[in-house]
Amino acid sequence: MDKALIKNKSYINGKWTCEGNKTFKVSNPANGKTIGYVNDGGIEITKKGIESAYKAYKYWSQYTAKDRSMILEKWNNLIQEKSDSLAEIITLECGKPINESKTEVTYAASFVKWFAEEGKRTYGDIIPSHTKDRRINVIKQPIGVVAAITPWNFPLAMITRKVSPALAVGCTVVIKPADETPFSALALAHLADKAGFPPGVFNLIVGKDSARIGKTMCENNLVKKISFTGSTKIGQLLMSQSSKTLKKLSLELGGNAPFIVFEDANIDSAVEGAILSKFRNSGQTCVCVNRFLVHEKVYDEFTSKFLLAVSKLKVGNGMDNYVNIGPLINNEAIKKTESFVKDALKNGGKLLTGGKVINKYFFEPTIIVNANSKMRLAKEEIFGPVCPIFKFSSDEEVINMANDTIYGLASYFYSKDINRCWKIAEKLEYGMVGINEGLISTEIAPFGGVKFSGQGREGSKYGIEDYLEIKYMCFGNIK
Ligand code: NAP
Repeated sequence: MDKALIKNKSYINGKWTCEGNKTFKVSNPANGKTIGYVNDGGIEITKKGIESAYKAYKYWSQYTAKDRSMILEKWNNLIQEKSDSLAEIITLECGKPINESKTEVTYAASFVKWFAEEGKRTYGDIIPSHTKDRRINVIKQPIGVVAAITPWNFPLAMITRKVSPALAVGCTVVIKPADETPFSALALAHLADKAGFPPGVFNLIVGKDSARIGKTMCENNLVKKISFTGSTKIGQLLMSQSSKTLKKLSLELGGNAPFIVFEDANIDSAVEGAILSKFRNSGQTCVCVNRFLVHEKVYDEFTSKFLLAVSKLKVGNGMDNYVNIGPLINNEAIKKTESFVKDALKNGGKLLTGGKVINKYFFEPTIIVNANSKMRLAKEEIFGPVCPIFKFSSDEEVINMANDTIYGLASYFYSKDINRCWKIAEKLEYGMVGINEGLISTEIAPFGGVKFSGQGREGSKYGIEDYLEIKYMCFGNIK
């Protein structure tokens, strides 16, 4: 591991900065051991970060897109060069298997690269005028200072997915990562520093008091946008706190992904997709399958093949190369997962495999058949390796079941019938649909949800628009 990546203070105005002497502990979710301590930044440092970002915005927004792009390209190269060390840090503090962490580093860097390029293409419009003496133009300009609040489950990628488009178009940023995973974020800040972002353009606050830091960001008038990834509950809170300053918001929130297997599906391919989509980060991603909806004619076949595939998964410390399922993030997550299983069994579910905590930090991959709508896991986000399998008998029924949730982030289905594929994809009330595919995240496609899963899109050509304002310019009296 490259020790230079390990930082323990906030990064403000190009300097590693403390607020007082208080620190907080960061632990390894796989064994509870202390990884290190980080300075506990609070309101003062948040204000400093915002003010630095505001000052830097004045000149960073005046750089050419090409000049900003060159710094982003350098950042991308540095992230890739340090891929192994970054992956180790991710696994140590967030627990995901090391190979998944390596994939996350690549995914994180892909946003930096993509937006380094997209930043040069924020074209405006020339609109044919409604009078002879006027010319109508539309240009796009950066929105201003952006505050980004990110979760622990993708401690690198959720930062780059937000800040790369922001920085590419000339915004400056103040980031608050989750307190479970500050070291990944700090390593990223170190590499941003090496890449040459001028002081104040990239600021990162580490601190335990997320409620007060978040409120300060929302209520500060210098911040023009909040970009948040996390739970729906906190997204709603940030939205209400931002109302007085009328901020723009991008919200990437929770999900309740259905995974539908129709009677004409290729069952082997569905099983493969199900494993990929359900068990990433031990089931702790917003696009992980929450509900398996399987046609009655293939219910037994899918379930038995899925059970066989699940029985091959290896649970353990993510630092061991052979492991597929790491720990859950903390004890609260373990308890919550246990309670979902208990509730499902109480409501008529049958346990096919798993259901137990292993060595305090891990949860067995679990399959529950005879799932039904009375169970909490039909409505709530599980965020753990539990797979409830529901039965359906018609297209209409399954669409109703799939859409019967407040969430609308990712959805998946398997069918060989092209007519059905179009119709079902159109009827699913979700921001993203995987059709015969369990892995849908990529920097080139718009990631995001509808309903209580949020608003705005990240990645792709759409992801940059969230950081731009449109200005209409009317040139008059042209003779
Ligand atoms: P969370 O509790 O909402 O936390 C997310 C972030 O918000 C963390 O940085 C957290 O900081 C901060 N936070 C907590 N309370 C806050 C407050 N009162 N004001 C301001 N910030 C506050 O979510 P989580 O449990 O860590 O993450 C899992 C959730 O994220 C799931 O619902 C998942 O679906 C969602 N998620 C969505 C996407 C997506 O793209 N749609 C991607 C990944 C995850 P501290 O941790 O320091 O308290």
